[in-house]
Amino acid sequence: MDQGNAADFDLFVIGGGVNGCGIARDAAGRGLRVGLAEQGDLAQATSSASTKLFHGGLRYLEYYEFRLVREALIERETLLVAMPHISWPLRFVLPHHDGLRPAWLLRLGLFLYDHLGGRKILPPTRSLDLHEDPAGAPLKPGYEKAFEYSDCWVEDARLVVLLARDAARRSAKIMPRKKCLAARRDGGVWRI
Ligand SMILES: Cc1cc2nc3c(=O)[nH]c(=O)nc-3n(C[C@H](O)[C@H](O)[C@H](O)COP(=O)(O)OP(=O)(O)OC[C@H]3O[C@@H](n4cnc5c(N)ncnc54)[C@H](O)[C@@H]3O)c2cc1C
Repeated sequence: MDQGNAADFDLFVIGGGVNGCGIARDAAGRGLRVGLAEQGDLAQATSSASTKLFHGGLRYLEYYEFRLVREALIERETLLVAMPHISWPLRFVLPHHDGLRPAWLLRLGLFLYDHLGGRKILPPTRSLDLHEDPAGAPLKPGYEKAFEYSDCWVEDARLVVLLARDAARRSAKIMPRKKCLAARRDGGVWRI
């Protein structure tokens, strides 16, 4: 940082994406003196170009990561409650076909997905008859059955800005348009 902004911090974060702003908020909430430098605008990079989903990680069930999925499912509903103005439930329709795992196995996985995290807000999985259900209308003929399940989506860039604002409210110094040019260790401290 240039001399004009020299300051002492317990933690200095380089990058104002979702990780940097989330870490800054968490650390400031724990009473650390936090600085954050973002070379451009907050969320200018990957954190405004995601698919905007937050989910329990259905596919990790295949790897028997039950604990990970449970934690993510619990967090999913916590986030929905914490930021109802920028996050929403989203229903996914998974049409079944012969190239997938057997329908009973997918249904079992979705049953676990519904129940591992103590779901309270989101609606449960449904089985769909694609001949009858409107979800079948845009599909090629040949699909007969589908499963409809819940995950969520969030306005990713707004989430980043809200994290930064809340970090600042907790005394973090958030510095957009400040590029970190070098970091060097000098005795017991880092000079940035
Ligand atoms: C196509 C796509 C879809 C995705 N979909 C999802 C999804 O649905 N759900 C999900 O949870 N995740 C998703 N992800 C992943 C998620 O978007 C990323 O993991 C997340 O945005 C990474 O955040 P970050 O803060 O680590 O990085 P970034 O958002 O890239 O932030 C890094 C920041 O550091 C800044 N920076 C770099 N160098 C310096 C410097 N020297 N000085 C100051 N600042 C600097 C950059 O300008 C940038 O703003 C997706 C990713 C992609 C690409």
